Amino acid sequence: MKRNLLLTPGPTQIPPEICAALGRPIIHHRTPQFQENLKEAVEGLKHVFQTKNDIYLLTSSGTGAMEAAVCNLLSPGDKAITVEGGKFGERWSELCRSYGVEPDVIKVTWGKAVDPARIKKILDTHKDIKAVFITQSETSTGVTTDVEAVARVVRDTNAVLVVDAVSGLGVIDLQMDNWGVDVVVSASHKGFMLPPGLAFISVSAKAFKLVETSKSPRYYFDLRKSKEAMADVDTPFTPAIGIVIALNESLRRIKQEGLQNLFACYARLASGTREAAKALGLSIFPDESCLSNVLTAVKLPAEVDGNKVVKIMRDTYGISVAGGQDTLKGKIIRIAHMGCVDEYDILTGIACLEKVLLKLGHKFTPGVGIAAAQKVFIT
Ligand code: PMP
Repeated sequence: MKRNLLLTPGPTQIPPEICAALGRPIIHHRTPQFQENLKEAVEGLKHVFQTKNDIYLLTSSGTGAMEAAVCNLLSPGDKAITVEGGKFGERWSELCRSYGVEPDVIKVTWGKAVDPARIKKILDTHKDIKAVFITQSETSTGVTTDVEAVARVVRDTNAVLVVDAVSGLGVIDLQMDNWGVDVVVSASHKGFMLPPGLAFISVSAKAFKLVETSKSPRYYFDLRKSKEAMADVDTPFTPAIGIVIALNESLRRIKQEGLQNLFACYARLASGTREAAKALGLSIFPDESCLSNVLTAVKLPAEVDGNKVVKIMRDTYGISVAGGQDTLKGKIIRIAHMGCVDEYDILTGIACLEKVLLKLGHKFTPGVGIAAAQKVFIT
């Protein structure tokens, strides 16, 4: 039987104890039993978000939490900054436009990170900007934004800083309170090692003032309802009960491991993956200065079709990596090292990549990629 190894940037692999938790019989949500679970989940999430702010659980994928951020913070005609350095940065702009906000878009070349000075320059001259939307880990390019540096330029202005941490939370550091980030959104199916269906949004007191005054239409994602319900350890609508229960398994695992240890472990996996790619004669897509430990975007030689690499790895060998999006279609592959992935998963993925690249005509000595990764993992 073929394996099903997911080295994709979400959904990620689900460890056995979380699978077992997902298989438990359903309980009703308006009960003290579920309240216990909800309370524990929110406390555990605060640890991962590194915040004392409120966190609300939404029954949606990550984009639902992004939409909740936009419609709760802004009113039609408001001013906002978005940073577009990839597909998910573009999503912030699209969401803003859907709610009648024409954003001031900072375009960043794909593969590079935003220079916080560009954000500062706009904020200095447009004091009426209400929100700045950025992406912590731009999953389409493998770029990491320096959230701390961006927070430094937004912190003392009227604007709130909103961070899409859908793929990065629990994988790379994000100190919501220490850095002064106002809103962080994330989701269940990446660093949290759960199925998709649950999203999270944490909101500071400064940002909640905007939630209370926004004139945008909202119902399901109205965070005023979430706040009111949370005061009674409840949710306004039927939550994804099973995923919330399994989330507690995930949070226990994360706590036991320790956030810093987890970040170090993902950094090691990323380093091994990058060294393997280089040994195979491939280059890394993002700039050296903003490499992601969440996923590695690898540039392929012109003669190798990335779509074929992805298809053969998945359909012939049962190993999933992601292809490129938009203009990067066929040109890069993205290997994720987030969630429940270890060194041997990465080595397996590299071994398979070597075989497929050789098959597609790329020349190198078989085994050099694995040796390079192994060298990182052994030291
Ligand atoms: N932002 C980022 C950085 C992501 O990686 C993703 C998912 N790939 C999303 C937003 C959107 O999340 P979803 O597909 O869960 O709606």
